[in-house]
Amino acid sequence: MIKPNNTFCPVPWKELSATPSGSVRLCCSSLQDANISKYEDGSVAKLTDDLQLAWNTNFFQEVRKKMLANEHVRACENCYRQDNAGIKSAKTAWLEKYPDLSNEDLASTIKIDQVELLDLRLGNICNLRCRMCDPYSSSAWMKEWRDLGELVPQPDDKTWSRLEKNEWPQDPRVWEQLKRVVPKLRTVRLTGGEPFLVTANKEFLKYCIQSGHASHIELNYSTNGTVWDNDLPELWKHFEQVNLRVSVDGLYEVNDYIRTPSRFEQILRNIDKMQELASHAPVKVIIGCTVQIYNIFQIPSFIEFFRNKNLFINLDFVQDPSYLALNVLPKNLAEKAQQILQKEIAYPGVSALVNLLDSSKTSQWNQFIAYTKKLDQLRNQNISKIVPELGLE
Ligand code: SF4
Repeated sequence: MIKPNNTFCPVPWKELSATPSGSVRLCCSSLQDANISKYEDGSVAKLTDDLQLAWNTNFFQEVRKKMLANEHVRACENCYRQDNAGIKSAKTAWLEKYPDLSNEDLASTIKIDQVELLDLRLGNICNLRCRMCDPYSSSAWMKEWRDLGELVPQPDDKTWSRLEKNEWPQDPRVWEQLKRVVPKLRTVRLTGGEPFLVTANKEFLKYCIQSGHASHIELNYSTNGTVWDNDLPELWKHFEQVNLRVSVDGLYEVNDYIRTPSRFEQILRNIDKMQELASHAPVKVIIGCTVQIYNIFQIPSFIEFFRNKNLFINLDFVQDPSYLALNVLPKNLAEKAQQILQKEIAYPGVSALVNLLDSSKTSQWNQFIAYTKKLDQLRNQNISKIVPELGLE
């Protein structure tokens, strides 16, 4: 068997991925400014289109051809960068998931008939305004985003109006189309916004159960842990596996500062419910932490806290907005963080954080301060109390 070459990745042959606005994209790890599926006339492919057309646009055919020819795909640069830095990329994870799939097997498959995985961002309905998020992913961000003015890129009027409508999860045409892929479906990833606030997807889950296919489908949720839907456990018991990734970005006030207006204690109560469910059903719970300047000094205590609850933490890190990324820290603060991280250096992902802190490029430090202080003013919060290590007044 010929091993996949360097740029080969199974995603464009296996997955249908959608943005919160329902545009079809390459995958959630790809570059936002280069990952949208477009037709020959330049129009964007949508979930409401004929899916056979949407996943076989010129964009997708080009990406597939390039991967088979081992050519560079710009949309995949995040994965290339992570692989070069010794951090496990989504591409590497996909290659592990499909170890027997080779580029030779797919040599003549530039168009596909079917997908096995759905990655659906269920619009932007959310109850939180996390500091690394934006109105594209959270409806709760809209007012404050406008108040931030020139500190952040402002959408045009047409985009604002689209964001306010949050249309696609309410459109029955989408769910009807998605039913056609159910017989071959292996995985459905449901994120938001906050997926537990979007009830439309429950009808789709019921269809998977009624059609007899739920037993070969794994569900992956990314939830902010602040809400709980009592209907879901009853539906979940029919599925092969349910994975719940609860986003938590710090302990107590650090989490609540980053993920305003969440309450850490309330999230812990919901995690307890999930763990109770996991004790007698095929449900797995993990913590997802997005490491950024606001929480880097707390990471060892955070690991210890959740280790004591028998919960694994998947450590991810902010790339966008880039002014919250770890490599924006000035050298003295980056070194201080590296020292603190030594306490948990053996934990998966921690050495990669130490490496990231090595590549300090402080050109966006002033942008970090301006954004942080303006948001503090709008939210009546104070960075100097939450992260005193930064030495900001
Ligand atoms: S290489 Fe990375 S960005 Fe590109 S399709 Fe695969 S997972 Fe997505």
